Amino acid sequence: MIELREHFPLAPCTTFGIGGPARFYAEVAGLAELREALSFARAEGLPFFLMGGGSNLLISDAGFPGLVIRNTGRALNREGTDVEVEAGVVLIDLVRSCASWGLAGVATLAGIPGLVGGALRGNAGAYGGSLGEVCTSVRVLDAGSLEERIVSRAECRFGYRDSRFKQDPALVVLGTRLSLAPAPVEELEERVAETLAKRAARRLDCEQSVGSYFTNPVVSDRALVARFEAEQRVAAREGRLPAGWLIDQAGLRNLRVGGAQVSGIHANYLINTGGASARDVLELARLVKERVLSQTGVRLVEEVSRIGFSAGELAD
Ligand SMILES: Cc1cc2nc3c(=O)[nH]c(=O)nc-3n(C[C@H](O)[C@H](O)[C@H](O)COP(=O)(O)OP(=O)(O)OC[C@H]3O[C@@H](n4cnc5c(N)ncnc54)[C@H](O)[C@@H]3O)c2cc1C
Repeated sequence: MIELREHFPLAPCTTFGIGGPARFYAEVAGLAELREALSFARAEGLPFFLMGGGSNLLISDAGFPGLVIRNTGRALNREGTDVEVEAGVVLIDLVRSCASWGLAGVATLAGIPGLVGGALRGNAGAYGGSLGEVCTSVRVLDAGSLEERIVSRAECRFGYRDSRFKQDPALVVLGTRLSLAPAPVEELEERVAETLAKRAARRLDCEQSVGSYFTNPVVSDRALVARFEAEQRVAAREGRLPAGWLIDQAGLRNLRVGGAQVSGIHANYLINTGGASARDVLELARLVKERVLSQTGVRLVEEVSRIGFSAGELAD
């Protein structure tokens, strides 16, 4: 039997530290409990959403009027060079275990906060690698039919910070199978340590935020891309420019609305300086999008999941 908690505070469950309570909250340990939670939501006519590590969430000040489900399944097993991992495993634990097993393919993910389920949905990645690249299949529960099924890698439609699970929230990620390559343990442990050190040096984990608030957009304006490449001495990857660079071009570093601010360290981090409301963040994001569009012609799109807002609140 699941334990349903009412009016459960969500802000402390998120890295932003923002948002009101959930009408209902449940932690589920396995498939039977997940089915029970989803059946409850359906019977009550309530919306639901899965919460992982809360590192990519902006929750409305009014909270979430339905059921928030946290999957606590944490099994992590190796079979040769394959790894089976459940959605509730913390990403850094997966990374460290793979290194200790001498399995390469996930070291660049070291330091990305959150859990495996959230990382699959958003195809989390850094330094040229992403989780989708090593995934061979994903085990899901279809919230509509309550049937468990395997989604093949091709069906997952992994792209830059994107997957099929983003478009289809009825698919609850239960776990995944990864195909990795053998490599010396010391080399992998060094790679993990180097990645963590690189992130620390860039101060990527320093503030109350969701990391990058916007995705890096594909930019068709060749002159703008050429300016970026000349200035930064790097080639644009897949035609994308860093959203932070575009925000800088518009001169928006440190722009503030209430307690929310464009970070002075990373222009694509919107931060909670203390006491920011979700409304402050939305308004700041709206201003950033408006000014980047008017000054560079590029439309930014949110990477963060925004939960509990009305369509009107999310309109630009
Ligand atoms: C300081 C900082 C640095 C960051 N750096 C990076 C980075 O370098 N690269 C990067 O890609 N990201 C980065 N992020 C963003 C974030 O860590 C990733 O997006 C992460 O993968 C989100 O995982 P989570 O478990 O916290 O998901 P949550 O924030 O809990 O949820 C995110 C979304 O996934 C959905 N979800 C969660 N679990 C499931 C599930 N089991 N089934 C279906 N849907 C699910 C949620 O409903 C929500 O829509 C950073 C964030 C912070 C705060």
